[in-house]
Amino acid sequence: ETKSEPSTTVDGYQLVAKILKCLGINAAFGVLGIPVTKLGICCQQEQIRFISTRHELPASYAAGAFGYLQRKPGVCVTVSGPGCLHALAGLASATVNCFPMILISGAAENSQVDRGAFQECDQLRAALPHAKQVFRVEDIGETARYLCRAYHVALSGRPGGVYIEFPSNVLHQRLQANNVEDLLSFSNDFISSPRNLPTPTPDVIDRTVQLLKKAERPLIVIGKGANYACAEQELSQFINNLNIPFLATPMGKGCVPDSHPLSASAARSLVLKEADVVFLVGARLNWILHYGKPPRWSDNCKFIQLDICEEEFHRNANITMPIFGDIQESLKLINEAVTREPFQVPKSWLNKVRQKCEENARKLELRLQEWRTPLDFHCALNAMRVVIMSLPNPKPILVSEGANTMDFGRLILPVEEPRSRLDAGTWGTMGVGMGYAIASSVSYPGRSVIALEGDSAFGFSGMEIETIIRYNLPIVTVVFNNNGIYGGTEKSADPYDPAPTSFVPNAHYEKIAEAFGGLAYWIETAEQLGKALRESLEAKKPALLNVVIDPSAGTESGSLTSHN
Ligand code: ADP
Ligand code: MG
Repeated sequence: ETKSEPSTTVDGYQLVAKILKCLGINAAFGVLGIPVTKLGICCQQEQIRFISTRHELPASYAAGAFGYLQRKPGVCVTVSGPGCLHALAGLASATVNCFPMILISGAAENSQVDRGAFQECDQLRAALPHAKQVFRVEDIGETARYLCRAYHVALSGRPGGVYIEFPSNVLHQRLQANNVEDLLSFSNDFISSPRNLPTPTPDVIDRTVQLLKKAERPLIVIGKGANYACAEQELSQFINNLNIPFLATPMGKGCVPDSHPLSASAARSLVLKEADVVFLVGARLNWILHYGKPPRWSDNCKFIQLDICEEEFHRNANITMPIFGDIQESLKLINEAVTREPFQVPKSWLNKVRQKCEENARKLELRLQEWRTPLDFHCALNAMRVVIMSLPNPKPILVSEGANTMDFGRLILPVEEPRSRLDAGTWGTMGVGMGYAIASSVSYPGRSVIALEGDSAFGFSGMEIETIIRYNLPIVTVVFNNNGIYGGTEKSADPYDPAPTSFVPNAHYEKIAEAFGGLAYWIETAEQLGKALRESLEAKKPALLNVVIDPSAGTESGSLTSHN
């Protein structure tokens, strides 16, 4: 008697998709299977683009990057047990990088827990250390509350990863249409409530300005938090008004263009060592910034740190002026204060930084003009640089990973627009690139993406070339192929096996693209590289450029420290 018409009821799959849609989620990434298979189609029915990858790892990385680019949680969908575990690296990486992300996983049904159910696993506990919070939905009626909660936690304060699981019995549960309306209106109310971003008090603003005013050798460090906060306008105004040299972290690049005359990236060592007041804007004093400690930094350097996470202050160095607030909102207030009370940075400091930049830029330019065969990193990157610089804005999004490939790439390839460069990030991990490239392409429809990959980095998720071709994403994957990790010249200590860091020499990675109908290039010279890059970007088609790099050109760990 209680059996209702299917058309008047909605199941868990449909409900999850409907609520995600309400929350403004317009794409999800994942691998489908029991018990979440139907979720992919349900997403499509709600006009949520569903990108099914070939492994959960790249899907999870894609969701994190998508969250960063979209400033709202990126969604990854996984099956229970192993599928979920595969995605935990991406969830953890999102949390570490401060990317908003939600991992939605299927799970063994309630009645079978601890009975050895199909793909049963204590996913909740596995996800716990890698997420801001974890949730298990025990009844279909709780779906809206938990999904809204997951969304809110992922995005609020310092953004990060959230895990939420749906046991299969909840996904199969059905709800009457009028109850569905209630849940959707709950979700609508949630999403239309205003966000409150923290801002500093007038006293903090005033003391910040006084500290900067007294500085003899001030420096601004732009981190990826500034890019995430979309603070490009406020930051440019601040830098231009005060004439303070700035340094961008690897993913802080582009918030203010690399070509800006006050960019001190070519004088990185000098400005770190000599700055007396440093203003950190959405950047942490972690390994990337040498913990803010000597010998890389001066012993008595004073730090100002602007961050949305109050706990971050004083982690590695005493922060003379902590500014707890949203970057965009806080910089607006600081800019107003500076306009009321303008001042200028000592000319001697600006001249010193400029001279060092010019000197190092000249050196690099000379090095880039040394044409070599086989290609080395500089030569190959220069060929790419020439093409990229000749393109109109918006330029392709650049995703970059690999030890030497990423390090030299950061130095040589210009980044002129905010949020247009993604790399190995806070963990400095390899294997993120293909997922990041897919996320970038989905995030900016129609815009080209260059995925610049070391051969080792590419190998983590090389099969995603099929995904890229299946969805016809205009991603040009460039593999710098030097036959191994760091290079291909290491001697083996085993009489039969190769060195553990080397790969099959002269591998034809481009054949992977060919296998699925993408553009494929084998490249040995700078001319070939320039031509192939131009051609494949113009074609707006998936392409793989396999670039043969001298196996002896790399150095161990690339050049993690300084470039000058
Ligand atoms: P990088 O690696 O570029 O130095 P990090 O990820 O280490 O960047 O630091 C980014 C910082 O930005 C984090 O401490 C994070 O809390 C902060 N952040 C993120 N979003 C905002 C925001 N809207 N306002 C202020 N700070 C933010
Ligand atoms: Mg290599």
